[in-house]
Amino acid sequence: MTASSPQDPAARRARDASRDHGGGGPAERPPIPVFLYHAVMDDPPGWIAEFTVTPREFAAHLDALEDSGRTPVTISALAGHLDGRAPLPPRPVLLTFDDGFADLPGPTADLLARRSLPATAYLTTGAITPGGRSLLPPAPMMTLDRVAELERSGMEIGSHTVSHAPLDTLTGRRLRAELVDSKAVLEDTLGHPVPHLAYPHGYNSPRVRAMAARAGYETATAVRHALSSERDERYRIARLIVRRGHTAADVRTWLAGDGARVAPYRDGPKTIAWRWYRRTRAAVRGPEFAG
Ligand SMILES: [Zn+2]
Repeated sequence: MTASSPQDPAARRARDASRDHGGGGPAERPPIPVFLYHAVMDDPPGWIAEFTVTPREFAAHLDALEDSGRTPVTISALAGHLDGRAPLPPRPVLLTFDDGFADLPGPTADLLARRSLPATAYLTTGAITPGGRSLLPPAPMMTLDRVAELERSGMEIGSHTVSHAPLDTLTGRRLRAELVDSKAVLEDTLGHPVPHLAYPHGYNSPRVRAMAARAGYETATAVRHALSSERDERYRIARLIVRRGHTAADVRTWLAGDGARVAPYRDGPKTIAWRWYRRTRAAVRGPEFAG
């Protein structure tokens, strides 16, 4: 059967994904910080250094998080709320980790487990599979055989595509393969559905969001440099990239629900212009790392 009925969950998700949400006023949208980390290490390769924090800084960020009185939850908890299935604890916060750097199933997961802080890891399957292909430059990466252990330590696992390509520049077939194949690899490894996605570099479009829904994802996180909220869009949940120059004070500001705008909101003309410029440029010379 190819036609989809109104009750078909995938069709419903695709419809929701293509709808543009205006959101309510700030009072109806208590901010939810969703932090995006990459590597946590002292001596990262140059290309990722800007997006890396040291273990010492990371511990200070976790101190700030614990002092804030916020409750860390995984992406499934936020998804459950956005779907109307389950309430969130008051004042939630999310910790997310993209790409799958080598520290993740080691010292980073250990530190989070010691503090009983749940988190979400979005893995680029081509970068963590022996012989796999990804567009990420060389870096110490974790391996697929540690994914189950990472999950057991308290991290929810999501997909970050196969090759880390900017999805909004891909044709339909390649786009679908990036979404479906990475999901299948993680599901085969873990033995259960993997319904959450993070867009490489945060790049997405209405077409990408609809395809993510059709591929079976229930949520997708973007970047947006904004605080998320209880009314955020399920297929472009806003995240804040934590960069090398950010301090524990910056993290405290975000935890207080300040220092960034609150999603959902409409993209401004500058964002739209940048998107078109970038897509044209990516077609010529490939993407630059942006998260
Ligand atoms: Zn990434």
